[in-house]
Amino acid sequence: MRIGAHVRAGGGLVGALERAHQIGAEVVQVFTQSPRVWKPTQYGPDVLERYRSAAAEDPSVTATYCHATYLINLATRDPALLERSRDCLAANLVVARGMGASGLVLHVGSHKGDGFDGCLRQVVDTLLSVLDRAPIDAGTATACPIALENAAGAGGTVGRSFEELAAILELADADRALGVCLDTQHLWASGVAFGSRAAASAVVDELARTVGATALRCVHLNDSKVPFGANRDRHANIGEGTIGIEALGWLMAHPALASMPAILEVPGAGDGPRAEDLDAARQALAQGRAQWEADEPARHGVLEETESTVGREQAGIGSGT
Ligand SMILES: [Zn+2]
Ligand SMILES: [Zn+2]
Repeated sequence: MRIGAHVRAGGGLVGALERAHQIGAEVVQVFTQSPRVWKPTQYGPDVLERYRSAAAEDPSVTATYCHATYLINLATRDPALLERSRDCLAANLVVARGMGASGLVLHVGSHKGDGFDGCLRQVVDTLLSVLDRAPIDAGTATACPIALENAAGAGGTVGRSFEELAAILELADADRALGVCLDTQHLWASGVAFGSRAAASAVVDELARTVGATALRCVHLNDSKVPFGANRDRHANIGEGTIGIEALGWLMAHPALASMPAILEVPGAGDGPRAEDLDAARQALAQGRAQWEADEPARHGVLEETESTVGREQAGIGSGT
């Protein structure tokens, strides 16, 4: 698992890469524009080119992810908001592809209680039209998929279950142009536990069964300020929240997630992830590996039947990044 961090783009994109490098992040995530305003930040081809070459040369940052604007709502019934959302997401994707990003993470939006089935077709059509509108830069190797993030479950948010994300992927049939981002805090807040070997394995199995083994593009690694099942999106520093190191460790060290980028979106001291937050994440991973190792004899002795499941997961999730 490569441990990364969301950092501020600040004055220019290359600054974000430098910040990520400084704090020891192996993966960097940025907003392609201010996340709570519609106005896109215009980056010239020279700025994008400079970012791509700096990223290619950086000795420790291995991948870039972008996060889409929070205002976007693909499930809205308001035609004007839908139109703005489509334009904004397309602008986000153009920048992400220009940066050579490995994924653009998206909160799909909220149907405000009208129901998932009623908005599914609109969500899919909008995603497909956005994918059509963002040209794939010939200078970048990746097509930069849109990674749909699981939601904490508040107010009719789309993606509160893996089934909802799977239904979007299936109907869109866009192959690897769409994927999934798994946020540990949202998972916890939506009422899915992973604080044991069996529970963490059940989450990974469920993910493989629903969205499919190759759809997972990245993990958002966050502890939670709110209790289990609280349905609110409130991130805490690793080890300082209600999830804790042990439960995070069980999931992080799952063999099927070994090659996943795991991006911190924690508050730090108020200004985002710091070097010590990345250290805490690496400690959680080390502790998780120790938990898995310590559990080996029990698996061989008592739970022989889980063997084949674990083998399948190892072959599957995380191999596609
Ligand atoms: Zn997010
Ligand atoms: Zn997230």
